[in-house]
Amino acid sequence: MRIHEFQARQILAESGIPVPAGGVATTVDDVVKASASVFKSGSSIVVIKAQVHAGGRGKAGFVKVCKNKDEVRSAATFMLSNRMVSPQTPPEGLEVKRILVASGVDIAKEFYVAVLTDRSTRRNVLIASAEGGVDIEHVAATRPEAILRQPLDPGTGLQPFMARDMAFRLGFSGKAVQQATLIFLKLAQTFIDKDATMAEINPLVLTPPSTEFPDGQVVAIDAKFTFDDNAMFRQKQVQEFFDPAEENPAEIRANSFGLSYVALEGSIGCLVNGAGLAMSTMDLVKLHGGDPANFLDVGGSANEEAVTEAFRIILSDRRVQGVLVNIFGGIMPCDRIARAIISSATTVGFRVPLVVRLEGTNVNEARKLLDGARSEIPTMQSATDLTDAAKRIVAAVSS
Ligand code: GDP
Ligand code: MN
Repeated sequence: MRIHEFQARQILAESGIPVPAGGVATTVDDVVKASASVFKSGSSIVVIKAQVHAGGRGKAGFVKVCKNKDEVRSAATFMLSNRMVSPQTPPEGLEVKRILVASGVDIAKEFYVAVLTDRSTRRNVLIASAEGGVDIEHVAATRPEAILRQPLDPGTGLQPFMARDMAFRLGFSGKAVQQATLIFLKLAQTFIDKDATMAEINPLVLTPPSTEFPDGQVVAIDAKFTFDDNAMFRQKQVQEFFDPAEENPAEIRANSFGLSYVALEGSIGCLVNGAGLAMSTMDLVKLHGGDPANFLDVGGSANEEAVTEAFRIILSDRRVQGVLVNIFGGIMPCDRIARAIISSATTVGFRVPLVVRLEGTNVNEARKLLDGARSEIPTMQSATDLTDAAKRIVAAVSS
């Protein structure tokens, strides 16, 4: 699960990491109003930031540092009337519904820091770089040595000496060393406490020296978290941060029926039971030259209503030019799928080709049901096995 930057900032602030003050607004007027109070509080700059579940905003013009109200108004107008497109968004971009208005900071240097799980070493790792900011992906790709790593023991986690060592390796000096050290420790602890799969601050900035902070202050000005969905039952705050408006509506609908559904870009809708079978079905569709429109695992316990809903979701996707049903009836009886196909045919209608491959529990009853309903489902073909099913649907879609 992902959250917005303003929510991530709240988590950081609650853990004791310095974050500039800010608020969220949804209209141009409210953004301007919010900025007025930030200017009044003594900030000479205000930063206006689109809140969407994707990065790369800076380069796309969706993070603007403003010196006065006019600049704020034009930045907010631009962000609320254009979709944000970056390498991290779908090609059509994302609609901006909320804007973060925060006190801007002067930057002497930008750093990158994150805690995440490294699957190759099966450990969490603290990752940091003295070359943080909007080009971090380029730095990682061209000069991997500029990305520093501190693997974390699963039992003891990030130890203070490791955090301090990282602060020195990044080049912090004087009183900033201790500030950075504490931030790394708090970030690593927050990562564990919140069941995060990634906790990233980019950039973590060092401000120029001031009287209060003669060696500069270390502040987080952007944050990104992802969380383990399986831990949501014990993460009340994170659950409340869930923003359905940022998710694919079909995925949310499927979820509420207990279906695992992931929308993809292709044209062949797939309805399968079991994640493994769903993956192999997608592989076979690809092997025979087709492109799956989705991953859908109806599981073993979905009732007829849920399976009918699954068809409704697949058929409401305008990209779907054909549907492949591949069921190995173990816990899920084939006749339940057959009944759902028939009820979808009458309530929604299969205007596109449908290929059905059924095997396993109650398969004979299922075949009888489908045979009896052929006139209501004229686009239906039966397949003898998986390869036959994949070939048939690819042929039907490309003809
Ligand atoms: P992202 O591009 O989506 O990661 O958005 P960020 O919040 O990281 O902002 C992108 C860049 O904008 C940062 O790397 C900074 O260079 C700049 N920026 C963001 N906030 C401030 C600020 O308060 N002051 C200044 N001077 N620059 C900022
Ligand atoms: Mn950033």
